[in-house]
Amino acid sequence: MGKFIVESPVAFVVGASRGIGKATASRFLEEGYVVAGTHRGSGVGDGVHGIECDVTDAASMKAAFKEIAATFGRLDTVVYNAGVARQDLLIRMRNEDLRSVMETNLFGAFTSVQESLKYMGRARSGSIVLISSESSRTGIPGSAHYTASKAALDGLVRSAMWEAGPRGIRINVVAPGPTQTDMLAKIEDADLDRLIDSSPLRRIAEPDEIADAIFKISTLTYLTGALIPVTGGEGLGY
Ligand code: NDP
Repeated sequence: MGKFIVESPVAFVVGASRGIGKATASRFLEEGYVVAGTHRGSGVGDGVHGIECDVTDAASMKAAFKEIAATFGRLDTVVYNAGVARQDLLIRMRNEDLRSVMETNLFGAFTSVQESLKYMGRARSGSIVLISSESSRTGIPGSAHYTASKAALDGLVRSAMWEAGPRGIRINVVAPGPTQTDMLAKIEDADLDRLIDSSPLRRIAEPDEIADAIFKISTLTYLTGALIPVTGGEGLGY
């Protein structure tokens, strides 16, 4: 990255079209950041610089980082939020669903971390936050592909922190519990009631609450390699 084109810090939210990612992009905007976010044709929120990108296509991800470098000349924070969930029992799971979950939740994260290290490394500073899930530790039936992809994401951070730290880059994981987004809308009412009953706070999260945690964690200057559960207490002490 060469000369700064903007004075404000730049945040890049991968998967900013809706849900937690959209709320996160707004949160960074509120804090005075210049914000870029990806979408797949549906657009991003007001004030966010939208970049069309499919995370399963490494070339498309690399082009997105290049566009940010060319447009803003700096990259301070990257949030890898893009994710898909599927409900399939293992015995019925199709290879294409397994591949789609892994390519979105894990491979996209790898490319994102690789590109972040490249661009942030030149400035010797930066913060990366990957969005995992409470289920990476507790597991959920019918989601072995999703759970495995998120557990692998946690593993990625444990190694990446050793490579990122000496370059002045921090990398952390936020693991949300059930949050009111389109992803959760696919869950049956009875299952949702069970989730609420098993939560110490007796409710699910709003996307803004997860976005708030993501923003704050991204700014903690002595935190790296951490997996922070933002679950309302659910899954803790498992
Ligand atoms: P949503 O389904 O509301 O949003 C998913 C986001 O990911 C969208 O912006 C979507 O873009 C993007 N995305 C999906 N596939 C791709 C792709 N191939 N390329 C680019 N972008 C893609 O989900 P949430 O907001 O709920 O989830 C956000 C993150 O939080 C995910 O990683 C999820 O696993 C995690 N999470 C969510 C929980 C919940 O209860 N909601 C709980 C724990 C973790 P598009 O609009 O183009 O589809």
